[in-house]
This record gives sequence, structure tokens and C-alpha cells, in this order.
Amino acid sequence: MQNKVLIIYTGGTIGMVQGKDGSLHPFALKGIFEAVPQLELCDYTIDSCQLDNIIDSSNMTPRVWVDIAGIIEREYDNYDGFVVLHGTDTMAYTASALSFMLENLGKPVVLTGSQLPVGVLRSDGRENIVCALEIASCKEVVIPEVCVFFENRLYRGNRSTKVSAENFDAFKSYNYPSLAKAGITITYKKHLILPPPDKPLKVHKLFDEHIAVLKLFPGISKELVDSILHTPHLKAAIIEAYGSGNALTEKWFIDSLQDAIERGILLMDVTQCKAGAVKLRQYEASCDMERIGVISGHDITIEAAVTKMMHVLGICTNAPDTVRYMMENPICGEFSKN
Ligand code: ASP
Repeated sequence: MQNKVLIIYTGGTIGMVQGKDGSLHPFALKGIFEAVPQLELCDYTIDSCQLDNIIDSSNMTPRVWVDIAGIIEREYDNYDGFVVLHGTDTMAYTASALSFMLENLGKPVVLTGSQLPVGVLRSDGRENIVCALEIASCKEVVIPEVCVFFENRLYRGNRSTKVSAENFDAFKSYNYPSLAKAGITITYKKHLILPPPDKPLKVHKLFDEHIAVLKLFPGISKELVDSILHTPHLKAAIIEAYGSGNALTEKWFIDSLQDAIERGILLMDVTQCKAGAVKLRQYEASCDMERIGVISGHDITIEAAVTKMMHVLGICTNAPDTVRYMMENPICGEFSKN
């Protein structure tokens, strides 16, 4: 029997056309199929659907993640895999969010998009769609993960990050190798893929958006730090620190963090570096943060940190110890502990 794949179209450059003013805006799914006649040749069945509102992914919200996850939940038993066509700008956020929402995922969910609209002659979209579909429909290697496919590589979704607004290889996964590479054939690295689940799919749809990202820079002021940490209803903040998780050691800064922690705000240290991990206590410049109770994000991406924080706060209301435990431990391969 032929495998079946469902394409979920959300918007993004891949399906955009140029408006009268020259700017790109999202267009209907039909145009994408017309631009990729190769899809007729596939030896698997392709169905498609689109969100009610097709968006530039800069307008992505947790509400839309719930819509996408809801489609996958509803159609889970009807398809062998899913391809989500998505704008590149927030694709890594959506891939990360879906990885946390789709607990016990046993089928591939592959996000892809393109740097040039699929109707443009030199578009990277056709290749990306065809490869994403081949991976999502593969009978021999079933990837039970949310992934991002871009320019020949399949990445774990919650490890991926957009690195270029210009090049076709717009995504990278610096802290975890790619799961597959598309050349003449698609080569899977089976030892890097998560094991299949032993429980049925469970879809989590709650997010708590009361979080903040505090990006450090030389010269950052106490007023700015305090205003972020005193955001009304704030429950957690991700500190984007330097290098291996280092920050200024000035007393006012540590006092502000400690005050936030005492007010019940969870603080997590991630690195501004694209590659490598937070190693608290490696330098004196991170010892105080560890001492006062800032937790390590290890080698998590900022996209995975933000979405996981909102997810964990959403599902563990009024359980700060559980929130802390879940943030300190990987859920679905989003970081490696050092
Ligand atoms: N602004 C577009 C989006 O993210 C960019 C893209 O798709 O490449 O929807």
C-alpha cells in the first residue's frame, strides 16, 4: 500500500507572490502545486490543507502552533507523515514548539520552506518540498521527530536555527549533527534519530507567554535589567549570556537576578554563541549566577529555550519545582547535558 503524506501550508516565502508595491505576500496553496509538477511523479499519496489564515511567519503566535498541532492530532491516524510548509523567519521556533507539543510522536513531521518563492525560476522551494515529502513518506526509515529540512539537510527541529537571510543553506544545527543528508539518495543517520515512542500521541496545547529574554551586552543598565525582570506577571526569564554562560559580576546585576528569583521568577542561562554550551562555574563570571539559583540551558538554542519555557509553564501551572525539573532535563533531545 502507498504511504500517505499530508502537507500543511501555513504561509511563508515559499508560497508568496509579489504584490503591486513589489513586496512579497502569502498566496494560496494551489499555486505551489502548479509550480512543482514533479509531485505528480511521487509514488505516495499527497493530500494538502492550509491554515485559515496564511501568514508571513513573522506573525507566528502560539495560537497558530495550536492550530498546526491540532491538524496533526486530527489527521494522525490517516497519514504516515506530515510536511509543514512554513516561512523561514520563525520556522525554528515552530519546529521547537511542535516538538514539545507532540509528546510520543511516532511519525515524521518535517517543516520546510524556501528563500525564493516556489514560482520563481531559481527557487530552492521545489527541491525542499520534494525532499521533505520523500522523508515524510519513507517506509524504510520512519523518523519519529519534528524536523526541519533545508538545502540538503534534515535537522532535529528543536536544534535548528535560521542563520542566513540570503543563502539557500539558511538553517544550521550547531550542537547536534544533521539527521539525514540528501544527495543522489537520502542518507539517514539512524543512530542520531530518537527511538520510537511506546505510548500513544499526546498533544499539549497550553502555553504561558509570561516569559522574557534578557540579552546581555556591554553597557547594559540596571534600569533595563530591572524593567525586564519587573515585567508584570513575569514567570521566567532566559538570560542570553556570553560565551559559556558568563555575565557581568557587578553587585547590582547579581542582586537584581537574586531579587527576581526570590519573587519566584525562574532564570535560565543560555549562551549568545551559536555553537557550544553553558558551563556554569567554568569562569568566575558565572559562579554567582549558579550560586543564586540560575539554571543552565546547556547547549539549547534560544528558539528551543523560549518555546520550551512557554510550554512547560503552560502545562505545569502552580508547580515551580516541576517547571524547574523539566527545564533542567531534556524532553525530546533539545539539549545535551554536560
Ligand atoms: N518572511 C518570510 C516568512 O518567514 C521569510 C521566508 O519565508 O523565508 O514567512
